[in-house]
Amino acid sequence: MPLSSTRAVRLTRYPQGTPESGDFEIVDMPLAPLAEGEVLVQNSWMTVDPYMRSRMRPGKSYVDAFEVGGLLDGEAIGQVIESRSSDFTVGDQVRSHLGWRDAFISDGEGLHKLPDIDVPPQSFLGVMGMPGFTAYVGLLEIGRPKAGETVFVSSASGAVGSLVCQIAKLKGCTVVGTAGSDEKVKWLLEELGIDHAINYKTAGSLSRALRAECPQGIDVYFDNVGGDHLTAALNLMNNFGRIAICGMISLYNATQPIPGPPNLTNIIIRRLQVQGFIIMDHNDLLPAFMKDMKAWMSEDRIKWKETILDGLENAPQAFLKLFSGESTGKMLVRLSPPE
Ligand code: NDP
Repeated sequence: MPLSSTRAVRLTRYPQGTPESGDFEIVDMPLAPLAEGEVLVQNSWMTVDPYMRSRMRPGKSYVDAFEVGGLLDGEAIGQVIESRSSDFTVGDQVRSHLGWRDAFISDGEGLHKLPDIDVPPQSFLGVMGMPGFTAYVGLLEIGRPKAGETVFVSSASGAVGSLVCQIAKLKGCTVVGTAGSDEKVKWLLEELGIDHAINYKTAGSLSRALRAECPQGIDVYFDNVGGDHLTAALNLMNNFGRIAICGMISLYNATQPIPGPPNLTNIIIRRLQVQGFIIMDHNDLLPAFMKDMKAWMSEDRIKWKETILDGLENAPQAFLKLFSGESTGKMLVRLSPPE
């Protein structure tokens, strides 16, 4: 029975501060019969990512802002359930940028068949997808750690951070991470095998706690958080250290401009390289990432965790939980039961 409609998530208004459920609304949309060359895709997984918050405000960022009243989008994995295209057949598993909805019609543009790699399909939204690639590029190209160096990772139990930690360990570094709960700290230490982990919510002075865990100083800081984490790292950076500015989640919901760290002069004094990066500028490294990550995974050298909510109706909640710390590893929404 062909689908004649789908549910999708609409932005009702730009969030003020921390997003709330009233900023989102589920709507029904008709699906027209397929035209020649089109396919109907049923989504099975969609991702929610912190960067989407930066699209929920007017003005230009490195990606276009969502429109108030418009549908949200983002990466998703789905299955072709009807096809009038010679490029796709029913049953093909595909990756698209049309998440935040149960199903969609596509003319094939932006639709990619999943590579033939023996991993769960949703891995292409996490460890084998954008977060994994971000960890790989940010650490190895921007941070350039050497064996024996100390790497500090904030939001270390997150989708990107948990992979940064493990790649740094694979490269022979001492790894120190921060996370927002004792459970996350335990996972980092006992499962991912990092050297030291700090619960930044209970540690008191982050600078002091970090100093205690980094007696040799920090050579590479992989910043996912900004704010107090960046300030604490700047105090402990070794000469010629590298700071890879990946994200600043602690600032994404700010309603007022936030002053920068008061210790930026350390960039000069310690001869630091501080570099922001956007992962989509590094697509030339995608084949190397896929090759290395596939090998590490097949050798059981990389672990990953998913926090899963079920059903499109819970997609806004999944997004909100990124900011309340209720995610470990990759936050995903499962849209239809697995095969
Ligand atoms: P995460 O999984 O790290 O994000 C969710 C986690 O962030 C939460 O579980 C929470 O963990 C932590 N967090 C939330 N609010 C705060 C806060 N105020 N202070 C400290 N920690 C907080 O997301 P990703 O792994 O997907 O992304 C990591 C970072 O990288 C983000 O900042 C993201 O925007 C950025 N990014 C950048 C890319 C680029 O191209 N530059 C590409 C992809 C991601 P906890 O319990 O530890 O607080």
